[in-house]
Amino acid sequence: MNLRVVPRSEHCLSRKDISQEALHVLYRLNECGHLAYIAGGGVRDLLLHRKPKDFDIVTDAPPPRVRALFRNCRLIGRRFRLAHVIFNNTVVEVATFRAAEGHTESEGPIPKGASAVKTPEGLIVRDNVFGSPEEDAIRRDFTINALFYNIADYAVLDYVNGLGDLQDGLLRSIGDPRVRFVEDPARMIRALRFAAAIGFRIEDQTWSAMSEFSPHITMVAKSRLYEELLKLFLCGQVGRVLKDLTDCGLMNVLFPEFGPWLEQSDPDQGRRKVTSMMDRVDGWIRKGQALTPSLLLALLLGPYHEALAAPAIAEGQPAPEALREAALGHLGRLTNNFQIPRAVALETADIIAIQPRLKERRRRDINRLPSRTGFSEAVVYLDASLQAANQSRELVRWWLDQVRSAPAPDSEPITE
Ligand code: ATP
Ligand code: MG
Repeated sequence: MNLRVVPRSEHCLSRKDISQEALHVLYRLNECGHLAYIAGGGVRDLLLHRKPKDFDIVTDAPPPRVRALFRNCRLIGRRFRLAHVIFNNTVVEVATFRAAEGHTESEGPIPKGASAVKTPEGLIVRDNVFGSPEEDAIRRDFTINALFYNIADYAVLDYVNGLGDLQDGLLRSIGDPRVRFVEDPARMIRALRFAAAIGFRIEDQTWSAMSEFSPHITMVAKSRLYEELLKLFLCGQVGRVLKDLTDCGLMNVLFPEFGPWLEQSDPDQGRRKVTSMMDRVDGWIRKGQALTPSLLLALLLGPYHEALAAPAIAEGQPAPEALREAALGHLGRLTNNFQIPRAVALETADIIAIQPRLKERRRRDINRLPSRTGFSEAVVYLDASLQAANQSRELVRWWLDQVRSAPAPDSEPITE
């Protein structure tokens, strides 16, 4: 593979946009004779004039050497030993160049010093091999995530034509996507997240491999899949995410009931309502407001839970009870695919089940509901669902007034 070196005079990545802490770590490693690069999202985002979440550093210094170079340093991770350099307000992660060629158990004994292991189906279950900068670049997921910024001369190093793809707005798998998605199917969710967040097109072969291998997503550890899905839905562009999830087939694998319902239901109850709820979520994310996983899940799945509960309510079951049962039942079935923590499922169901009581404005509830955990989220849900249905939001203002004159709830409701 060819290395392209882009000198400082020919790119826009400036030191003034890198955190002081990351610069300190880079310079110290470099002064002590080591290669020291920023890798991954930090380089990608700065080249796109976006603010990076953090700066990950890679070096040729092995982890014990990194620990010796910094007073405030801990080695972490079972799977791969990373160094965390700890500052007052932040932690800088330092990894040693890694070569994760992925070694299949059936290929024979694992080489000495290496522990990259693939199952016979090609899924990586363990990797922990140090390597060269080039190997470290090509084991990464997407070309735009594999660029390095070299502190020694401020050049950008590109082993995978990430700069070309960055220019063309393309999200492309490194290597054969049919191999890379089988190795780690969570990369399919990551692809959707990066493409949506930065508005890139998913390159054709990468996309067709996602369509082909979408059923493999269930091979990902359930707790990891839950975390990846939360990040996906909180990327700030959920409209695009829902469309891509559906188009590549992942939606129906991950959400075997909700996915088909979104497609088939009356759009006013289904897709349009969910899209409107998710637009609210995007708005908060873009303003930097946080939201809890339970509120996110309620806003995403609540309209489906309401549809699920409707027949029981029509037959006379009290609405809060029917809604809670519908929500808990569906969230329970989803845990076949990804691990929704029990507490999150209970809170999600509570947000949805409380809605009919908010609509009734009963005197007893005025005293009780505001002090309940999850009340502020329930009011946010109410607001979003009234807005989705183009209805007056007077009821929301009314509840917020009750809260102001009642004992303080656990947290302030989110208001715009
Ligand atoms: P974000 O802004 O969301 O943090 P990021 O690109 O920094 O984006 P991380 O999840 O922090 O993403 O991962 C850091 C880097 O590690 C990625 O840019 C990518 O190069 C590499 N990476 C992470 N996960 C994988 C994976 N599953 N397979 C291959 N490479 C990965
Ligand atoms: Mg990152």
